[in-house]
Amino acid sequence: MPTKISKETLPMTATELRDAILKHIEYSQGKDLVHASLYDMRMALTLAIRDRVIEPWFRATRATYAAQSKRVYYLSMEFLIGRLLEDAILNTGLTEAAREAVAGLGFDFDTVLADEPDAALGNGGLGRLAACFLDSMSTLGCPAYGYGIRYEHGLFRQSFGPDGRQVETAEDWLRQKHGWEFERPEASFNIGFGGSVAETGRSAVWTPDDAVIAKAYDTPIIGWQGKWANTLRLWGAEPLTAFDLAAFNKGDFAGAAAPEALARTISRVLYPDDTTDQGKELRLKQEFFFTAASIRDILRRFSAEHNDLAALPSKVAIQMNDTHPAIAGPELVRLLADERGMAFEQAVDTARACLGYTNHTLMPEALERWPEKLMTQVLPRHMQIIERIDELHAKAHPKRKVSIVEGGEVKMGELSFIMANKVNGVSALHSELVKDTVFAELNKLHPGRIVNETNGVTPRRWVKGANPRLSALITDTIGEGWEDNLERLVELEPAIAEQGFRDRFAAIKAENKRDLTAWIEREMGISVNPDAMFDVQIKRFHEYKRQHLNILETIALWQEIRANPKGNWAPRVKIFGGKAAPGYVMAKEIIHLINNVARVINSDKSTRDLLTVVYPANYNVTMAERLIPASDLSEQISTAGKEASGTGNMKFSLNGALTIGTLDGANVEIRELVGAENFFLFGMTADEVVKRRETPDHAARAIKASPRLSAALEMIESGAFSNGDKTTYSDLAQNLRSHDYFTVCADFDSYWDAQRRVDQAWADPDNWTRMAAINTARTGWFSSDRTIKGYMADIWKIDPMI
Ligand SMILES: *Cc1c(COP(=O)(O)O)cnc(C)c1O
Repeated sequence: MPTKISKETLPMTATELRDAILKHIEYSQGKDLVHASLYDMRMALTLAIRDRVIEPWFRATRATYAAQSKRVYYLSMEFLIGRLLEDAILNTGLTEAAREAVAGLGFDFDTVLADEPDAALGNGGLGRLAACFLDSMSTLGCPAYGYGIRYEHGLFRQSFGPDGRQVETAEDWLRQKHGWEFERPEASFNIGFGGSVAETGRSAVWTPDDAVIAKAYDTPIIGWQGKWANTLRLWGAEPLTAFDLAAFNKGDFAGAAAPEALARTISRVLYPDDTTDQGKELRLKQEFFFTAASIRDILRRFSAEHNDLAALPSKVAIQMNDTHPAIAGPELVRLLADERGMAFEQAVDTARACLGYTNHTLMPEALERWPEKLMTQVLPRHMQIIERIDELHAKAHPKRKVSIVEGGEVKMGELSFIMANKVNGVSALHSELVKDTVFAELNKLHPGRIVNETNGVTPRRWVKGANPRLSALITDTIGEGWEDNLERLVELEPAIAEQGFRDRFAAIKAENKRDLTAWIEREMGISVNPDAMFDVQIKRFHEYKRQHLNILETIALWQEIRANPKGNWAPRVKIFGGKAAPGYVMAKEIIHLINNVARVINSDKSTRDLLTVVYPANYNVTMAERLIPASDLSEQISTAGKEASGTGNMKFSLNGALTIGTLDGANVEIRELVGAENFFLFGMTADEVVKRRETPDHAARAIKASPRLSAALEMIESGAFSNGDKTTYSDLAQNLRSHDYFTVCADFDSYWDAQRRVDQAWADPDNWTRMAAINTARTGWFSSDRTIKGYMADIWKIDPMI
C-alpha cells in the first residue's frame, strides 16, 4: 500500500499545536483564552489532537475500500476504554509538544489530562480486553470496527458509606460533551421487538410490534505512531417518534415524554454482570439492540461493495466477545434467509463461516440462558430460527447429547458454539478446561473448533503511558521500538546483572510509590510508609477472586505481629480496589469487611509501621494506571479453574511486580515465562479443587487444622470489626465454615506460607529488584499485539494492511 505522508501526519511542533488549541478555544468553545476554563482547555486540546487523528483514519478507510479487504467486526457489550486523550497524544507522538503548548497557554498539562472523565463502559477484564484489542488492531493495521453500546451511564460510581458499605451512584460521563465522538444520524437502523411471524412458503416475515432507532456514534481509535486508525462504533437508542404532541396538548406532560424515556432506557445503563433476575428483559433487548444494528451495518457495508452474498465470509469476520452478542448468528441467518432469499441451510453455513466466539467463563451460572418464553415474546422469529438450527445440528449429529434449547431455556453458550467456526478460550489452561468441561460434548462433535488465544494488554497504555519512568529506562537500555514489538523486552535481561541497572529499576519503583503515597494521603487522608511493600489486589469483587482470602490473611498477620512484634515482618501496605455488582450480596459483605478491618488495623499504633490497609473507592482504568506501576506484589489468588485468564496479572508483571498466585488462568503462563523461582505459587490446582470439594466437610477440616485461620474467623465473629456486633458478618463466616465453594479455607495455610516466603524475599531488596526486573523482561509476550496476531492468523484469516 502506498503510504503517502501528508502534511497532517508530519510531526507537529509545540507552536503549531498551541495555535491549533487556540483556534479550538475560539471557534469550537467560543471563548477567548483569558476566559477559557479547564474544561475549555481540555476540549480544545482534545479537538486539536482529534484533528490529527482524522487523516490517518480516512487514509485507513480509503485503503481498506481500495483493497476490498476483509474486515474484522468485534462485537462486545463492553468497551472499558477509560480516558482517551493521553493515549491519543502518546500514539500520535505529541506528548512533549502538547505539554509545552498547554503550559504556554497557562495550564498544567497533567491537570488538563485528569479533567477527562474515565469512560467506564464495562465491568472489568472482558471490557478492558476489548479496549486493548482496539488499540492493537489499529497498531497492527488490521481493518476493524468495534461495535457496542453508548451507555449514557457506564458502570456505577462507587463510594463508601460511613459504615464502610459500598454506595452506588450513576456515572455521568456524558454530562459533558464527549469530545472524541462523531454523531452519525445517517447511520441508523430501526430495531424491532415482539410482534408476530407470518410464514409464507419457504420464508417468514417478522412484524415487530415495538421498535427503537439505533443511532451510530463513531470514535476513531488511533494506533501506535498514527499509522492506522479504526472505528469504535457505539449505538445509542432513540425513540421512533420523539414526542407525543397529542398527549402534551391534553396536559399529560409525563405521558408525552414516556415513549422517549422508554426507548432511551435501552442504552441507559450498563448491567453489572453476575446479577441475575433484575431487568432480564431489558438486558436481552440491549443485547439484541446492539447486535442487530451491527449486523445490519455490516451487511450494508458489504452490499455496497459486493453482490454475491456467498462471498460474505471472505470479507467479513465477526467476533463475539462472550455470549452477549450470541444473537448475531440467528439475526444474520434471518437477514440472509428471510430478507435476502438465501436457502436456510446455506444461510446457517454462511453465517457460521463469518462468526467466531470467545468464551470467558467456565462458571455455568455466568453462561447466559434465556427463558424460552421471554425469547419467544421479545424475538419470536429468532426463537424459530434457533429451533431450526438446533434441528439441523441434531440431524447432522444424531448421537449428540446437547441441544441449544433445553428445559425451557435457550443456552447462549451452545448457540454461540454451534454458530461459530472457531471458539476460543483466553489462556492455555482455560482453553483446555473449555474442551474438558463446559463444551466437552460439542468439542467431541467438532474437534478442532476450540482454539486458544491467550489474552494480552496494550503496552502503549499499560507501560508507556502508565509508567513513563520505566519506559525511559527501557528505551535507554534496549533502544526505541519496543512499544510495538514488546517481546524485545527480553533484551533487558543481560542488563539485569548490572548493579547500575538494578539501582535505577529500584529507584523508579520507589519514585512511583512516592507518587502513590502522596495520592493516598491527598485522597484518603491516610499516610503510608513508601518504603513498605505495596501489596495490591485490584479487580472486580467476586468470591472466586477471593478478596476474603486476602483479608483473612491480613487479620491473621495483624494478630501475629501483635503477638511477636520483633519478628521478621516485611512492612506492608495492603491495597484493595474494586467494585461489587449491586445485587451481589456476598461480594458487598466482603467489601464491608475490608473497610472495617482497615479501620481497626489502621488505628492500632503498635502495628502501624508494619501493616496498613487502604481501599480507595471507585476502582477504574485511571486508578489501575496509577496503582500498578507503584506495586511490589500482585495478588492473583483466584480459586484454580475459575479465572479464565486475567489481564491485571499481566499488567503487574510487565511493570515489575512479583506475583503471589494460584495455578489459574494466565498465571500459569506468566509463571512459565518468568520462571518458578520468580513467582510465589500456592494453593490447590484446578483438579485438586474439584476433588476437595467432594469432601463434604472440607472447610471445617481446614479450619480445624489451621489455628491461624480459626482465630481470624473467630475474631470476625466476635464483633471485633463490627463494633462488638456478632451478627454483622455471620453470613460471610457461616458461608466459609459450611460449604466454602471457592475453597478459601482449604487454601489458607498454603497462602499464608507463600506470604511468608514473600516476606523473606523482601528482606533482600537487591534480589527482589532482580526478580522484579526479570518479570518485566520476560513478559513481553503478553502484549495484546501478539494476541491479535493470533486471532488474525487462526480465526479471522486476515492479513495486516501495514
Ligand atoms: C485490567 C483491568 C481489569 C481486569 O483485572 P483482572 O485482575 O484480570 O480481573 C479490570 N478492571 C480494570 C479497570 C482493569 O484495568
